[in-house]
Amino acid sequence: MSTKNNTSHTLTLSKEEMQQYGYKIIDHIVDHFENQNSKKPVALATREEMDSLLTESIPNQPSSASEVLDFVMNQVIPNSNIVSHPKSYSFVPGPSNYVSVMADTIATGFNIFSGGWAASPAAAELEIVTMNWLLEIFGFPTKKGGGIFTSGGSMANLTALVTARRIKCGDDFSKATIYLSDQAHSSNIKAIKVIGFKKEQIRIIPTDMEFKISLNKLKNIIAKDRLEGLQPFCIIASAGTTNTGTVDPLNEIADICENENMWFHIDGAYGGAAILAENGQHLLKGIERADSLTVDPHKWFYQPYEIGCLLVKNHSWLSSTFSEKPEYLRDIEGNESEINFYDHGIQLTRRFRALKFYMSLKTFGLASFKKAITYNINLAEQTEALLRKSVLWEITSPATLAIINFRYHPIGHNLSEEELDQINQNISKKITQSKEALLVTTVLQGQVVLRMCLINPRTTIEDIKNTLEQCEIYGQEQLLEITNT
Ligand SMILES: *Cc1c(COP(=O)(O)O)cnc(C)c1O
Repeated sequence: MSTKNNTSHTLTLSKEEMQQYGYKIIDHIVDHFENQNSKKPVALATREEMDSLLTESIPNQPSSASEVLDFVMNQVIPNSNIVSHPKSYSFVPGPSNYVSVMADTIATGFNIFSGGWAASPAAAELEIVTMNWLLEIFGFPTKKGGGIFTSGGSMANLTALVTARRIKCGDDFSKATIYLSDQAHSSNIKAIKVIGFKKEQIRIIPTDMEFKISLNKLKNIIAKDRLEGLQPFCIIASAGTTNTGTVDPLNEIADICENENMWFHIDGAYGGAAILAENGQHLLKGIERADSLTVDPHKWFYQPYEIGCLLVKNHSWLSSTFSEKPEYLRDIEGNESEINFYDHGIQLTRRFRALKFYMSLKTFGLASFKKAITYNINLAEQTEALLRKSVLWEITSPATLAIINFRYHPIGHNLSEEELDQINQNISKKITQSKEALLVTTVLQGQVVLRMCLINPRTTIEDIKNTLEQCEIYGQEQLLEITNT
């Protein structure tokens, strides 16, 4: 197949070329879904290696389409971690699902503009429909409430904080102060900086031994800020911290926000999906009391990147924050029930993100999602039980919303904290170098620990046992090295 013909200036391929090209790509993707378990999840490459592989000058002349494709499939795609691999335990994995991948292909293939009602009434309607599903799932009012799909959780948090600032502070936020715990996700701090807050307006509240925000300290600081004439305007709670899966005391924080007339934002980017599991939803009590809630379908709702979501109690908060009326959009304003999502968030041109959420939920059914999330929570609990029975391992934070933190700490050895940190750091390093599993460390209460985030419904307890056994070999090696010196 070659584009070296006289139609290349229209950026087109012939019908046969398009089909050949497309089928080939589908075959690659299907092959990946079928065989990813037998691949290694880790890609390691230095800048030098990637430079020598990929650097080239601007291609002025056309090349063979299939050669370009082959190059990408052989050199580009394999040099990325497989975040949907069953042994991809780190960060927040991206299990994804094939139906949504195809839905994204449709959205891109038809290049649906999902900014305004007039451009694609059905795309806007599907965003309303799926947003209503999410509002219902989280116990938000479906008539009055609203929301918007974003590129991810970071953009959802940013959109929430812009809205909170507009609604609570108006134009002058010079005295406004905002509160979040030391375990809150870094995207919140980023968002607070983006919206123009100074360091002096940000209050990082310490967490307790269970990694929950300290309510006493939170209340003390709010009271003190009031006495100093400041304007406490927003508390950000975590519903599933990224480190440990910990949920802040949502009802108690909701009470504080009510009493203090503050905005209640919940960052449920990671953990929100647990609302669908009986063994998870009890931890999320009070989530429905938020003014705004971030969830991230490209995490635990098994969607491919990118789709985040912000839900709000009152949809008019979004339009009154983001609505601008430039003259060139005059003709497409329409009536109020016909939502222009460009008026509800930051982006004007938006891809059709609702489609994958819609198609995958319809195809598999909510019941399947519930089962998958329930399975994930159970899997983390089984892992905890496994580790507790071992003389080699110690739990640092128990299985919570499918996240568990632990460290190699064999009984009967008198190891210092430094030695333990070093052993665990090296276990992670060695397993990563083996590429067999993606398992990195985090730091909790000053200790280097291994962290697993088990949201892949295709990860089995056998996978985990297998990884732990590999870690134990590395741990033993480390131990010998230390005791021999
Ligand atoms: C992942 C995460 C985010 C950021 O979401 P992105 O989709 O990566 O932008 C925000 N908050 C929490 C709690 C997260 O786990």
